[in-house]
Amino acid sequence: MKKVGFIGWRGMVGSVLMERMREENDFAHMESYFFSTSQAGGDAPKVANSYEKVLSATDPKELLKMDILVSCQGGEYTTEIFPKLRADGWKGHWIDAASTLRMKDDAMIILDPVNRDLIQKNIDKGGKNFIGGNCTVSLLLIALHGLFKENLVEWVSSMTYQAASGAGAKNMIELLDQMKTVGTSFAANPSMGALELEKQMNVTMDSPSFPKQNFGHPLALNVLPWIDSELPSGQSKEEWKAQVEANKILQTTKNIPIDGTCVRVGALRCHSQGLTIKLTKSASLSTVEELISNANKWVDLVPNNKADSLKRLTPAAVTGKMHVPIGRVRPMTLGDTYFNAFTCGDQLLWGAAEPLRCVLRMVL
Ligand code: NAP
Repeated sequence: MKKVGFIGWRGMVGSVLMERMREENDFAHMESYFFSTSQAGGDAPKVANSYEKVLSATDPKELLKMDILVSCQGGEYTTEIFPKLRADGWKGHWIDAASTLRMKDDAMIILDPVNRDLIQKNIDKGGKNFIGGNCTVSLLLIALHGLFKENLVEWVSSMTYQAASGAGAKNMIELLDQMKTVGTSFAANPSMGALELEKQMNVTMDSPSFPKQNFGHPLALNVLPWIDSELPSGQSKEEWKAQVEANKILQTTKNIPIDGTCVRVGALRCHSQGLTIKLTKSASLSTVEELISNANKWVDLVPNNKADSLKRLTPAAVTGKMHVPIGRVRPMTLGDTYFNAFTCGDQLLWGAAEPLRCVLRMVL
């Protein structure tokens, strides 16, 4: 059996990956070794065929023994460790959720429902580096797969509403801390008028003791219109990823522009996106709906009405679910080649863990 090392299994993406692998009985097909940057020597998770102790994720000696390494640890870890392993002659398969290697020529961005055939070809040709795409990009491509397949997309503008857990476990916990802080301050003043309460909340959020070590700003009762670092183009790095990664996944011959504003919101889990889609030619609503809903097993077209949209197209409805709903699909008043849509998907499942799980099984 192949030796598979897991790094980052304690984090948001890693925990969801573990959950899915247990559900699918994946561990029966490999020998598992668990690595950590902080828990080496502790007890490893109990799964079939696993080594019982956690190994050090910064000790190349143990990592080099693995046939496959799956990392959900983050970009800094990949930047530090991956080149060292390859320099030491490690020839194994590297499967990673971090963005570090995505745009490298020898790395493939993996998204099973959209590019499974290309992944298989890459494995057959001896490809070794398989990297999960950015979460909003992967969810967008699953939702709009049918339109991309038909070359119907001229460009897309995507306005994102990204959940706190997209920034990692510590950030999600910080959002809950922030909510507790505002909730406690509210509970202390239940008899105040609404405007007075609003002012009170702002004082609480401005206080130096408000918990914001990870986000740097209040996210509770707020939205943060910048995710990741600044680029000279004026885009955030998160916004830049949409176009470059989507075109790499789709292997387009002509670049399809995809751009918009990425915003962090106070949802716990699941990323939403409001889309303006410019089609290459006019198409009826029924054609667009049909193409979208038949594209892959996971996309779920939600009828454009109030009741279904509010029931089925929200982070609360989608959390922990494998399907990727898309709704609010309608022609826009901007012209007959413009369509509106809204999609919401679990960024920890198809946005992160599931593509890694699928390619791990393919490699095995
Ligand atoms: P994360 O939750 O911050 O976890 C990363 C590591 O932080 C863990 O493996 C763990 O490593 C350590 N850690 C420290 N405190 C922790 C705590 N309280 N609970 C759990 N782990 C803790 O990171 P992530 O969100 O899973 O992201 C991992 C990679 O996936 C990143 O490159 C990210 O960009 C990418 N990604 C994330 C998402 C998402 O929605 N979160 C989506 C797509 C891609 P040790 O065991 O070594 O201490």
